[in-house]
Amino acid sequence: MHHALKHQIFERPPNPRRRSAIVAAGCGLVLLGPAARYAQAAPAQGAWRYCRKCHVMFFNGYPAKGTCPGGAGHEAAGYTFVLPYDAPETAGAQRNWRFCQKCNAMFFDGFPAKGACPAGGGHAAAGFNFVLPHSAPETPVAQAGWRFCDKCNAMFYDGYPDKGLCKAGGGHRANGFNFVLRHTTDYPAKVAHLTTAGAPMLNVLQIMWRDQGRRVMGEGMQQAINGRRFSDGVNGYDTEANIGDMVPTIRPAGENRFAVEMNAPGNNIKFHATTPTIFGAAMDPAFRVGFGMLVKFEMNVRNARPAIDIASVDASLRDASVHGANAVGTLVETVGDFFTGGDFSRSITERINGDPAARAQLSKAVAAALDQVF
Ligand SMILES: [Zn+2]
Ligand SMILES: [Zn+2]
Ligand SMILES: [Zn+2]
Repeated sequence: MHHALKHQIFERPPNPRRRSAIVAAGCGLVLLGPAARYAQAAPAQGAWRYCRKCHVMFFNGYPAKGTCPGGAGHEAAGYTFVLPYDAPETAGAQRNWRFCQKCNAMFFDGFPAKGACPAGGGHAAAGFNFVLPHSAPETPVAQAGWRFCDKCNAMFYDGYPDKGLCKAGGGHRANGFNFVLRHTTDYPAKVAHLTTAGAPMLNVLQIMWRDQGRRVMGEGMQQAINGRRFSDGVNGYDTEANIGDMVPTIRPAGENRFAVEMNAPGNNIKFHATTPTIFGAAMDPAFRVGFGMLVKFEMNVRNARPAIDIASVDASLRDASVHGANAVGTLVETVGDFFTGGDFSRSITERINGDPAARAQLSKAVAAALDQVF
């Protein structure tokens, strides 16, 4: 198979929706470093790895692992890097980094001399033209310390005292920019970082709430009321829940575990109730309930997809006010007791806790919001 074609298989499509989602959320607190902004704007290829024997960056997406100065093929270790290509050069990103089709390493192709290839002669470029971010701070999703070796022209990791094995002899020698290369996410490290910094993780929770959370909670509430028997012949139906914004807090609660509280002060539910009357549905009582809500849950983070697992959901209502139309006083009282007496809170809590699909939706929503940051 032709090399360029094989490369194409690993191409990741650009994701313009991700950026627009961040803008739409209007979150000035979302952390987007120059490197991250860049990586999200350009297409990127995964399967780039560090070689534990020679310390260069090599493409691990083929069965054959190229030619390593340490003998045989390269051996992958550590992060899986996701490297951007086909973008303009900027003050923070350098073009002309290429895959060498002889040794599988990443090398700089911007000079007439093509360095020292472990497979003999100079490196030979194939596939994408990578544009690699440099001169930015390291983050939980991008590693600094990647350098150009001015002896062999390959990209190598300079973060260890041992400088690996250079085809030109001895170890590699760093020159030029300090590259900061994006890798697949270490979610526990990322969440810990965002939580230590405070505001960004709260921002993630708010994005989650707006995108998915309040819909999931609202659906749980609708299910809790529709078909609910308040008294003889009086059952709820046509429930419509409007869940407002919330203010989150988060604190560590063990290894890769966090306690989250979300305080949503302004919500309301409208519904009707059947009555055993001869007048039909037109005379059915209608209710509007205003209430505040505190939702607590435990959030576990792991380095897999989905990265978030939500457990121990606890929803409690406060300041419920019940308004009824076409309803006699005793029925308003009965419905009011349901909301203020804890039955509704218990019902929501049991519903979300007992429904793996609902918790999975919330978990995925947090994971998706996390992916919008960095
Ligand atoms: Zn190697
Ligand atoms: Zn080479
Ligand atoms: Zn070298």
